[in-house]
Amino acid sequence: MINYFNFKKIDDDYLLTNDMGKYVFVDKNTLKELINNDLSPNNEKFRELKDGLFIIDEHPEVFLENSAPYAASNKMYLFEGTGLFIFVVTKRCNLNCIYCQAKSNDCADADMTFEDAKKGVDIAISSPGRYITIEFQGGEPLLNFDVVKYIIEYSQSIKKDKHIDYCIATNLFALSDEVLEYFIKYKVNISTSLDGNADVHMFNRKCREADFSKLENQIAELKYRGCSISAIQTTTKYSLKHSVEIIDEYVTLGLNSIFIRPLTKLGAAKERWHNIGYEPDEFLDFYKQSFEYLIKLNKRGTEIKEVHASIMLRKILSDCSDNYMELRSPCGAGIGQMAINYNGDIYTCDEGRMLAEMGNEAFRLGDVNDTYNDLIEAPACKAACAASVLESQLRCCDCVYQPFCGVCPVINMANENDIISKSPRQYRCKIYEGILDLIFSKLKTCDAETMTVLKQWAL
Ligand code: SF4
Ligand code: SF4
Repeated sequence: MINYFNFKKIDDDYLLTNDMGKYVFVDKNTLKELINNDLSPNNEKFRELKDGLFIIDEHPEVFLENSAPYAASNKMYLFEGTGLFIFVVTKRCNLNCIYCQAKSNDCADADMTFEDAKKGVDIAISSPGRYITIEFQGGEPLLNFDVVKYIIEYSQSIKKDKHIDYCIATNLFALSDEVLEYFIKYKVNISTSLDGNADVHMFNRKCREADFSKLENQIAELKYRGCSISAIQTTTKYSLKHSVEIIDEYVTLGLNSIFIRPLTKLGAAKERWHNIGYEPDEFLDFYKQSFEYLIKLNKRGTEIKEVHASIMLRKILSDCSDNYMELRSPCGAGIGQMAINYNGDIYTCDEGRMLAEMGNEAFRLGDVNDTYNDLIEAPACKAACAASVLESQLRCCDCVYQPFCGVCPVINMANENDIISKSPRQYRCKIYEGILDLIFSKLKTCDAETMTVLKQWAL
């Protein structure tokens, strides 16, 4: 008997995946025999398909018992409470990036108050999860550093047996020595935006050459002082021809990962799409060039990984789920993360509050006067959850990449005015499908040295 699976032709063979997150490549004849229940136990693929839980070769109850742990570990994130709390401590910013999704022109009363910060921390601490992450966002969160400090110290004072990680997304321009010492003391992970070399970064983020040098110096200083520093890259139309220069800048600064991200059609990026946006194929060409170049660098001894590939490879090569909020089913809206806005309103996620900046409050869960339970039970939380279950989405339900992918109700709402996409083969899907096509065709054909690099990325 065969178990349910999805399949897709890749090169000359067929990729099969199932709900347990297992994958196998077979040729056309083997696929035919499998579907017709004709596959001989002597076929060399039989054992692989049985071990991958594609063939039920024992009593169904035994099969269920064997597969249940894999199905559970594939969805492990559902057994935890909300783990990520994003505090938008201000919407003021000191830059003016061409794709900004988070800054508003109306900056009166743009800072979070101590009172709302306290209530937000109380909600975060009442999440049932033992491990939580508090992330500071903006605008530029360092422009309201006193509230950042307050949130860290207050959460430490009431955390009891919880483990709290802290992370700040900052452009680093307002980072003083005093703030840096503070981050070292409280082990705050620093995430900055680096779109590439001076040319690309200054074009995208509208900073001056002197500011770019300052950013490079700050990153060097943070690394020298032993801080945990990572960077994310955002791809505009202007970035597309500069994959090598962008990666070389990361290598020069000693960064060991690069998160290559497509533009999201929200905020200023949506308004300027005709100037800075692109088709999925254009991004995928850029991504493939970057991927190949990164593999080449790793083979030469420079360790640097691409974060999207790394998340997907971890899901593909290990039996554990990865809790990246946008590549899971259901996505992390509300049940995995919440965004506490500068004015005390609470949203399913950072993108949910960005959509609110555009005038659409669909993803508002409540505010800091609500309890954690009120927020989880809010209609917006249930709707976002239901709308991001891949197993029930048109097209995703029979897509071979379902165990490793995710859909975003906020993006659907921004682009189609509905939390469920009516035309699912769109921009985001095409990009994820393209990245997964690339990864699986590598896993199928790559040499041992490349495989070692891919396994290291998955660690
Ligand atoms: S979003 Fe696209 S690639 Fe991802 S599972 Fe759905 S159909 Fe497949
Ligand atoms: S709604 Fe979109 S942005 Fe929000 S958690 Fe889900 S996938 Fe992420």
